[in-house]
Amino acid sequence: MRYIVSALLIGLLTDVGVNAQTPTPVPAQPPQPLTAIRAGRLLDPETGTVLTNQVILVEGRRIREVGPNVAIPAGAQVIDLSKLLVMPGLVEAHNHLALTYKPVPENNVYYYTYVQESTALRAIQAASNGIQMLASGFTIVRDMGNNGNYADTALRQAIEQGWIPGPTIINSGIIIGGMGGQFFPTPEMAKDHNIVYPEYLDADTPDEMVKAIRQNVLFGAKVIKICVDCKPYGYTADEIRLIIRESAKSGMKVEGHVQTIPGARNAIEAGIWSIAHSGALTDEMHKLMAQKGIWRAGTETPPGLQGHPVSPEAYQRTVDGLKNAYANKVPLTFSTDADYWVEGKTRGELCMEFLRVWTDAGIPNAATLRALTINGYKVSETENTRGPIKVGFFADVIAVPGNPLDDLNALKSVQFVMKDGVVFKRMV
Ligand SMILES: [Zn+2]
Repeated sequence: MRYIVSALLIGLLTDVGVNAQTPTPVPAQPPQPLTAIRAGRLLDPETGTVLTNQVILVEGRRIREVGPNVAIPAGAQVIDLSKLLVMPGLVEAHNHLALTYKPVPENNVYYYTYVQESTALRAIQAASNGIQMLASGFTIVRDMGNNGNYADTALRQAIEQGWIPGPTIINSGIIIGGMGGQFFPTPEMAKDHNIVYPEYLDADTPDEMVKAIRQNVLFGAKVIKICVDCKPYGYTADEIRLIIRESAKSGMKVEGHVQTIPGARNAIEAGIWSIAHSGALTDEMHKLMAQKGIWRAGTETPPGLQGHPVSPEAYQRTVDGLKNAYANKVPLTFSTDADYWVEGKTRGELCMEFLRVWTDAGIPNAATLRALTINGYKVSETENTRGPIKVGFFADVIAVPGNPLDDLNALKSVQFVMKDGVVFKRMV
């Protein structure tokens, strides 16, 4: 891969190490490195407008100034992106970075990943997938379970502590569900060998639901993910309310995997934060979601991905569903569920293929860009600290040729990525 990892990352790592070992207050902060980005065009996805000839001044990890007449201090590193369109980083609202099923060894069956690949191996794959996502401009990823024994937490911590570059990770820990999760194990594998864990936490009673949430919080989750209706015994609206209440005690929102209309109805009635997958989201469900402001993480899969066929009929349903959601003003996020390997593509490039569905559904590019950015920051709850290119915010900045307001495919050619004020990729 042709990205350049800045030596500044080493600086970040050193800072973390020093702070972790120094309990007493550190006197004056040493001067932070200054970087001035000359943005030929600067896209504001909130308004769908492009300003010209802007300067973004970054001090350390944060944006210090932004505007047309920003003075560039002596000694600042200047990055000339005057030929590119600069914009804030992108958000993938539903992925599984420590899961990558492939032809070998698991014959493209995700069940087999659990028995053929250790959590340690999957954590290393997750580090790689995170780097691949960042190289495509995704600076935030919601990582929604199926990550072995908390490899998602390890990934988040490794990135936060500066051991490796990667997106900001909002991780769910282990998916909580009624007995079996999304598995259909034999009695002996489930009861004698506990095969469901650690991919799913069985929680069938109120006590078990509370305990499962607390376990995830204890082991580093930042959001709670539940199986609403993976089994016929699913969760009722009352049970989901209990889960939402208990999660809220730790400041966490709840995403529900939903695959049936009764499940969708229960999740919406309970006031869940976000619903993953669109199969059960009818016009009626979309109207109810819009009324309650429930986020839609539709995970709409395009056709043509090698090894992952989608029939024309299924694709038409997917496109019609997204169109209907937009028409009903449901809050939309860009989400893929792309948790497999496709030859010749990085994980980030694979996610970019999902833009096609939004184009085919006739969603205006400005709205898709909001789903990829503004809505992504909101569903991730970073919107007050990270995402928008604003003074005081963490400096997550990308740049592309062309203009994604005219053609979303411009996003497939990310030329520059800055994460937390550190240049990660620079091809100009
Ligand atoms: Zn998923």
